[in-house]
Amino acid sequence: MNFIFLGPPGAGKGTLAKEAAKAFNIPHISTGDIFRENIKNGTELGKKAKAIIDAGGLVSDEITIGLVKDRLSQPDTANGYILDGFPRTIPQAEALESFAKIDAAVNFDIADEAVVERLGGRVCCKDCGQMYHVKFNPPKVEGKCDKCGGELYTRDDDKTESIQNRLVVYRKSTAPLIDFYKEKGNLVDIDARPAPEKVLEEFKAKFKK
Ligand code: ADP
Ligand code: ADP
Ligand code: ZN
Repeated sequence: MNFIFLGPPGAGKGTLAKEAAKAFNIPHISTGDIFRENIKNGTELGKKAKAIIDAGGLVSDEITIGLVKDRLSQPDTANGYILDGFPRTIPQAEALESFAKIDAAVNFDIADEAVVERLGGRVCCKDCGQMYHVKFNPPKVEGKCDKCGGELYTRDDDKTESIQNRLVVYRKSTAPLIDFYKEKGNLVDIDARPAPEKVLEEFKAKFKK
């Protein structure tokens, strides 16, 4: 199946996507991860995107659509994929229609207060990108990744001003996608409030895996 994960920043999209991708044996494609990889490697794309991302804005539709179109042309997407963090605007969703067939738009249902708390405590691994939460999902050893031993850091866009800006951007540019996919008849709501294991269970039950 071809999934898109829709929801506010910090809703737990990446956390569920990693586990669901394993369970369904399909790739997890995160535009945020692709941008961060480019920033880390100092590519032209990374240089263009960094200031926008740190401020909590959106990278241009043109750049982002091109990136996703290219990624979806790779052979590993033939049996399905999870698109996490794309589309984020109506033009992106419309462009996606022209080169992909989406089976389900999974909408993460959660209140703003909860996402602010999740983003405020998020730390990520510098080496493998795995995310943790200082309170809800702490690493076994403080500051170190359980999976690879890499150093954990706080993303620049997880500092307070950027968090508020991202929520404003989400309401204005991304939330309209909920109606877009509802009208197409492939919106599936998921309760994003419970612990990660519960959210994964609900996801598996809904999509029978
Ligand atoms: P979060 O997990 O907080 O929702 P992501 O890792 O998905 O954030 O994305 C980080 C940042 O990368 C976004 O705030 C935005 O600046 C940029 N970005 C990611 N996906 C898109 C997209 N589809 N369109 C435009 N910008 C994007
Ligand atoms: P998104 O990709 O939607 O921005 P993440 O998956 O990165 O969200 O999760 C944001 C933060 O919340 C991370 O610190 C993560 O460890 C934590 N988190 C994710 N899912 C849950 C959950 N179900 N309950 C509590 N905390 C969670
Ligand atoms: Zn790691």
